[in-house]
Amino acid sequence: MFIVIDRPSFNSEVIDMNLDNLRVVLVGPLYGGNVGSVCRAMANMDLVDLAIVQERSLNMDEARKMACHATDILESRSTHDTLADAVKDCGVIMGTSARTGLYRQHAKTPREWAPSVLEDSDRGRVALVFGREDKGLTNEELCLCNRIIQIPTSDGYTSLNLSQAVMVCCYEIFVAADVYEPPVEKSALAPSELRERMFSMWRDVLLRIGFMEANKSDHMMQGFRRVMGRGAVTEDDVRIMMGIVRQAEWAVDHLHEQEAGQEVVAD
Ligand code: SAH
Repeated sequence: MFIVIDRPSFNSEVIDMNLDNLRVVLVGPLYGGNVGSVCRAMANMDLVDLAIVQERSLNMDEARKMACHATDILESRSTHDTLADAVKDCGVIMGTSARTGLYRQHAKTPREWAPSVLEDSDRGRVALVFGREDKGLTNEELCLCNRIIQIPTSDGYTSLNLSQAVMVCCYEIFVAADVYEPPVEKSALAPSELRERMFSMWRDVLLRIGFMEANKSDHMMQGFRRVMGRGAVTEDDVRIMMGIVRQAEWAVDHLHEQEAGQEVVAD
């Protein structure tokens, strides 16, 4: 997938980004369920290229079950004997590690790395390499990586589940790519004149039902305005609030008649 966006962090140049150039590499995964979950996370975040190094006899039923609607990524995975072979066509190799210390001093978080990953993936393939559930990556495998990603965690438990680690990394790259378009509010912001009409209707009804006395009404309405002013108020919001007032007015006028057994017809 090619995305053309304008990103201020790159001096507003227009950058072509290619998420298809990102490869997730799993080294020696033990559990089919985790591999399936990785496929699902990749599909959620628009990635398709999965490579497995030293694939053992994975439980493929579990893998398919956890991949859910992402079994195409599972079926099209490439397999390799060595990490070197899985990343031989990659310009940038990002290793991930839960551990600190030797060979990991230059580690950064997925959020910090994401912009440069996107920039690099425009110029060539980028591998995101994840280690074994029990032992992570070996030092030799880590040395093949030219950058290290460390996901921030509690000091007390630094190691994430494999597929969750994949998800966090892919999510940060996806968000940085600016592909996601949040839903837009369709209703326009309510203009002041409409809002004031609503407040005046509420004032009348709150007085009528005895919620406040006339000499306290300014004070009470300040509170009401504060509640209504916490977020942007739209025309739809105002229509709902006015509808409540109208129904309350109708109820005040007619419900006691209803209780007295008279027939009441709403106008
Ligand atoms: N017990 C292993 C951790 C294995 S977790 C160890 O001590 O290294 C499986 C894989 O998930 C890791 O190899 C790494 O690729 C990834 N992972 C888990 N937690 C991570 C973290 N906090 N930061 C970066 N990657 C992590």
